[in-house]
Amino acid sequence: MAGHVHDDLILITGAGGFIGGHLVADLRRRGHQKIRAVDVKPPDEWYQRFPDVDNRQDDLRDREACGRVTAGARHVYNLACDMGGMGFIETHKAECMISVLINTHMLMAARDAGVERYFYSSSACVYAAGKQTRADVAPLKEDDAYPAMPEDGYGWEKLFSERMCRHFREDYGLVTRIARYHNVYGPHGTYDGGREKAPAAICRKVIAAQLASTSEIEVWGDGEQSRSFTYIDDCLQGSRALMASDVSEPLNIGSDELVTINQLIDVVEEIASVTLKRRYKLDAPKGVRGRCSDNTLIKEKLGWAPSIRLRDGMEHTYRWIYEQMTMPAEARRAYA
Ligand code: NAD
Repeated sequence: MAGHVHDDLILITGAGGFIGGHLVADLRRRGHQKIRAVDVKPPDEWYQRFPDVDNRQDDLRDREACGRVTAGARHVYNLACDMGGMGFIETHKAECMISVLINTHMLMAARDAGVERYFYSSSACVYAAGKQTRADVAPLKEDDAYPAMPEDGYGWEKLFSERMCRHFREDYGLVTRIARYHNVYGPHGTYDGGREKAPAAICRKVIAAQLASTSEIEVWGDGEQSRSFTYIDDCLQGSRALMASDVSEPLNIGSDELVTINQLIDVVEEIASVTLKRRYKLDAPKGVRGRCSDNTLIKEKLGWAPSIRLRDGMEHTYRWIYEQMTMPAEARRAYA
């Protein structure tokens, strides 16, 4: 609860990244006083960083590093992962799968340190390919991960690590909670460099076109592939509620507002008050044809589901990326 003081140590891994940074900020706002934040990136490259948090740089593929950072922690949110959008995961499958070291060693460290609750950030990329072949896709229920045929590389690692959480719970009694995030977006995340995802990439392209006074943007695929996009505030609320719940099976945390990439561009164009010509790059990485979250189970279990409209979330995201792209390079990320 906001305003209430909490003394238990909470560990957030991947805290220099997008969701981890927001989670640290959120827990702080809610009165948590003992937070340890860890990332492999040097702290001056984190999206959000706070002086009253125990900020550490460590490589969590390493078993000993996991032990060091987990010591004394009561709750662990493991968000560390070598990942990115389709442009990254289709071309870095081995790197994606090496995140299994982070998840294995973090689970072992949490078990050995007597951690009370362990949160794992899985992904909609675990869902079976055969259930995502059409743009007018049936929303994905938690059961649709099996029989397994997840996204190559990244999705296999996530599905394997989900199961490892389950077995650490069954065999060692470690309480684990597993979120399947669906395309989370918002300010303070990656928008360039190759790891960005569609919402941030589209904002960047539209802004770049405006700043360069050009009238065209490149779109990956034919723009008719469909997705649902989850605003960061919904992601945080769902993660908090799942962590506090007694739900030990994986749960979707995702919006069920299904849009095509063309509709996502329409939204950004409306926010930016421009209309651009779209040049479709048909051989670019595209991922599955359609993907949407089915929220029946989360409503049943948590009495809640993501509800922030794409138009509203994209407004905040666009404004932040616009600020970033128009400020001097040395000023970027120099906040918080
Ligand atoms: P992100 O890339 O912004 O953050 C991940 C962080 O982990 C990065 O800062 C990275 O430096 C750090 N990291 C990587 N390797 C590490 C290592 N060896 N040791 C310590 N830290 C390491 O990504 P995000 O969007 O914040 O995602 C957080 C989690 O949520 C990840 O597990 C991701 O797979 C999952 N997820 C995210 C989305 C999404 O749309 N953003 C969707 C599904 C699942």
